[in-house]
Amino acid sequence: MYDMIVIGAGPAGISMASEARAAGIGAGKILIVEKAAEHSFSIKRYYPDNKLVTANYKGFEAACTGVMCLVDSSKHETISYLDRTISENSITVHYEETVFRIHKDAAQQRFTITTDRGSYDATVVVIAIGILGKPNKPGYRIPPSLKERILYDVTTTDVAGAGILVVGGGDSASEYCQYLVQKGNRITLSYRRVDFSRMNDINRRSILALAQRGQVEIMFGSNVTGVADASGKPAVAFAEPGFGRRTYDFVLYALGGTTPHNFLKTIGIEFDGEEPYVQEAHETNVRGMFLIGDLSAGTKGGSIIWAFNSANTAMKRICREYLRCSADPSSAKSVPR
Ligand SMILES: Cc1cc2nc3c(=O)[nH]c(=O)nc-3n(C[C@H](O)[C@H](O)[C@H](O)COP(=O)(O)OP(=O)(O)OC[C@H]3O[C@@H](n4cnc5c(N)ncnc54)[C@H](O)[C@@H]3O)c2cc1C
Repeated sequence: MYDMIVIGAGPAGISMASEARAAGIGAGKILIVEKAAEHSFSIKRYYPDNKLVTANYKGFEAACTGVMCLVDSSKHETISYLDRTISENSITVHYEETVFRIHKDAAQQRFTITTDRGSYDATVVVIAIGILGKPNKPGYRIPPSLKERILYDVTTTDVAGAGILVVGGGDSASEYCQYLVQKGNRITLSYRRVDFSRMNDINRRSILALAQRGQVEIMFGSNVTGVADASGKPAVAFAEPGFGRRTYDFVLYALGGTTPHNFLKTIGIEFDGEEPYVQEAHETNVRGMFLIGDLSAGTKGGSIIWAFNSANTAMKRICREYLRCSADPSSAKSVPR
């Protein structure tokens, strides 16, 4: 019987387990189940290698309430910080294990979590699976013949010296452009809005500077309506006649991620419109089941500090309502170094 089982070993899940350790829960009473072969899969998959990991991502205030914190860091520093947190807190993570079912005992505060390897009982379950496991895809059909030419991240395929259309207008779109320019690619950015109001200042300034230097062409107010196969390359059609039809070597979509509706509904979580229903301290309609990190950040999307803080908020309620522990916000904060 575990006190806490956390599903997902990203920043939210890892900080949840370290909050529990700081609150006095024994290492043997906490388990993280992660479906990938390594922790922080989304960071490793989606962040360009030379990316600056910003503490105020998406304009969130860089103020930490819990035991983990972030200052502006490199991708490598951020990953080693999460590595270190796992090892220094003796946190057990079961990798490559998939959760199929979570059953709540009607008579007592006890969950049974069934995975492809076995089943475990726990008093509290925390879901921290993020939204990046399933990147958003465009609504139109993409010819299967273009599979290799359509990208959703910059780490899976190493592209250099190519003509690339990046579709999107958030921080990731800007960061992808900056990274791809450095690799000698010719970049066009298509964004449906007329300004970059969703980007943080650093990314907005960087992308505008690249445009000024002629390294990125920005198509504000452009809407892609379809992609066709033109001799093995993506030919992109735009709704606006002025943009016409253009052919690229690759199209990269930076459209964010999708809430995993099916998984959450299967485990009994109710929805409030498109968003999972969460009440005080990120607890769901199922008593003792919490949703933290990107999953509880709403339509704006989350950040690493949001993930850390959501774990701390949940921990305070978990201690108060379910486990005998004390979540003390004055515990020493750690940061990447
Ligand atoms: C390109 C890009 C750049 C970004 N830059 C920044 C930045 O500079 N600063 C910042 O603060 N934020 C940044 N973010 C946002 C930040 O990465 C997320 O807010 C943060 O990773 C959310 O943490 P999380 O733990 O909720 O989810 P995730 O990081 O997505 O972690 C979820 C984990 O759960 C696992 N998982 C998924 N499904 C299951 C399942 N069914 N069972 C078990 N495990 C599962 C995944 O494999 C993953 O390891 C960026 C995001 C992107 C895409």
